[in-house]
Amino acid sequence: MEENIGITTSKKNDRFDMENGLRNAIEQENLLLHYQPKLSLISGKIVGVEALVRWDHPEKGTISPGEFIPIAEETGLILEIGEWVLRTACLQNKAWQDAGYTPVVMSVNLSVRQLYQPQIVEIVKRILNETGLAPKFLELEITESMVMDIEHCIQILREFNRLGVQISLDDFGTGYSSLQHLKELPINKLKIDQSFIRNCTVDKNDATIVKTIIAMVHQLELTVVAEGVESIEHMVFLQRNLCNEAQGYLFCKPIPPDEFIQEYKNIEQIIPQKGIPKELSN
Ligand code: C2E
Ligand code: MG
Ligand code: MG
Ligand code: MG
Repeated sequence: MEENIGITTSKKNDRFDMENGLRNAIEQENLLLHYQPKLSLISGKIVGVEALVRWDHPEKGTISPGEFIPIAEETGLILEIGEWVLRTACLQNKAWQDAGYTPVVMSVNLSVRQLYQPQIVEIVKRILNETGLAPKFLELEITESMVMDIEHCIQILREFNRLGVQISLDDFGTGYSSLQHLKELPINKLKIDQSFIRNCTVDKNDATIVKTIIAMVHQLELTVVAEGVESIEHMVFLQRNLCNEAQGYLFCKPIPPDEFIQEYKNIEQIIPQKGIPKELSN
């Protein structure tokens, strides 16, 4: 019993430390974005980039979003962080375009608090204006678990659509009542969760689920993206089943912007010009 209390107290302290640390991180600009490419499985070209936030902690090193986003959500700090992420990602994308790189779509993850923030559409609009990025080069990723009030979500997403910003449904398959959401939400793209991709070449059920999602998304005339693509086998499976785009460690981990530019050409060599590698095509 006492042990339990001890653990609870220390967890509370950890949380308290995290919360204060996160406040400092925002003030001292210790947050940074890493970028991970999304590739077209047809052309092999980079068509998009996802911005993923990291916390560069002075003592603990890099802290992943999985550890601090939930605390940022609870404390409301996510609104400030979310706005910083949006602005930084849009600025980066504009800078790449100004430097002459082929334009790509920048994806930014929205948090649940942001989606329900009354001024969210205004904020996005203002950031696009301030950074000069054309709306079609911004995509917002939302997850099914964020859809608590479907009418509200439909309304907000419509406003984003009118602005010209694209919407992607992230981690598809892990939420609940997915098909209802698919039917009603005005989205452009759907990302199959990495948990289905992981074993899609060895597990018959996962293979069936992935194939079925791809076919359904095409019928709905949306774009389908696979997350967590880690092997050539994954890639070939997805190509054979006509998945549009892929993202994963096979191509590149999330990396800082300067490295991303250095790696650009190498990343685009990974998918062979003619599609399926010879040794795997039969
Ligand atoms: P997500 O949006 O689904 O992002 C994909 C996650 O999968 C990233 O983890 C990425 O590093 C990881 N990943 C990519 N390819 C592979 C792969 O081939 N194998 C495996 N095992 N993992 C792969 P990360 O960067 O740790 O982010 C975790 C989650 O944190 C994100 O999931 C997203 O929900 C959230 N997140 C990240 N950045 C932000 C942000 O700026 N705002 C908000 N609200 N949430 C964010
Ligand atoms: Mg995402
Ligand atoms: Mg995801
Ligand atoms: Mg995820």
